[in-house]
Amino acid sequence: MNTHLRYINGYPPHLIEQVQRLVESEKLGAWLKQRYPSHHDIKSEKALYDYVMAIKNSYLKKSAPLSKVAYDGKIHAINNALGMHSFVSRVHGGKLKAKNEIRIASVFKDAPEPFLRMLVVHELAHIKEKEHNKAFYQLCCHMEPDYHQLEFDARLFLIHLETKK
Ligand SMILES: [Zn+2]
Repeated sequence: MNTHLRYINGYPPHLIEQVQRLVESEKLGAWLKQRYPSHHDIKSEKALYDYVMAIKNSYLKKSAPLSKVAYDGKIHAINNALGMHSFVSRVHGGKLKAKNEIRIASVFKDAPEPFLRMLVVHELAHIKEKEHNKAFYQLCCHMEPDYHQLEFDARLFLIHLETKK
């Protein structure tokens, strides 16, 4: 398997093959652009904080407060943002619960808004559910009904960043 496909490791093989074809034909960027035409404007930490709090106050108003919300250039997208930890590692959920901080990988500073929203929803859900279990994903889908599609497409976005020429 090509290394960029690690982002979608665990998804059904026919989906992985479709993505691989899009990458090989250099059409993944156009596919993403058509589906998600514009990037968000939430660039500063203040803007990110307000954005996160708006979602939190809509769905998780009574949950524990957040001490920090930040873009973090040290987070490698695959390990901590939404990557393989979804399938193998529970580390970042545990860390989040202990600290109640939300750190978003800087690569999502310049991304379509739905992907940022999906990440924020994912991190907010960890306030209540540490593990990636059924209750966790139910909470994600409560905050963002299109959560699963967005998570998959955000992974394609990461593949695109890694493979674009
Ligand atoms: Zn997680």
